[in-house]
Amino acid sequence: MPYDSDTHKSKPVHCLQCGAPIYFGRQGKKFCCLHCKNRYHNERAYPNRSLPVGRILHILDSNRCILVKLMNMGIRTMDLPTLIHLGFDPIYVTSFRKEGIRSVYTCFDVQYELTPSRIKRISFLGGGVMGEKMRPVSKLPFSSGDL
Ligand SMILES: [Zn+2]
Repeated sequence: MPYDSDTHKSKPVHCLQCGAPIYFGRQGKKFCCLHCKNRYHNERAYPNRSLPVGRILHILDSNRCILVKLMNMGIRTMDLPTLIHLGFDPIYVTSFRKEGIRSVYTCFDVQYELTPSRIKRISFLGGGVMGEKMRPVSKLPFSSGDL
């Protein structure tokens, strides 16, 4: 369909994925680009495989927040069902390494060991459990209300 300037005098349509206004293209166009179209359909076809980055960062931020609160209460070990009940999602981590038979994970600047039933030895990277060394995710340009 040829571009018709008259049809674009009304409010522009917005991309279903990113929200950008769509000024060009055939009538009824739903996406600003092929990338957005693919992401939109992939996220619906595989909702657990393809979480938006913002959602993943939110989960990680929430996990870190729970770990820091536990440390502030002097708690360095907890059974996993209780932790999950508090909102912790053990699937999301920022790093993993093996130390002998121990599985050591990090969530940004917080590290912990995970067994099939417990989380253990929660601490800040490089040592202490007192005070926060840094808050790398506190300035993310979104809040939980955006998600
Ligand atoms: Zn888009």
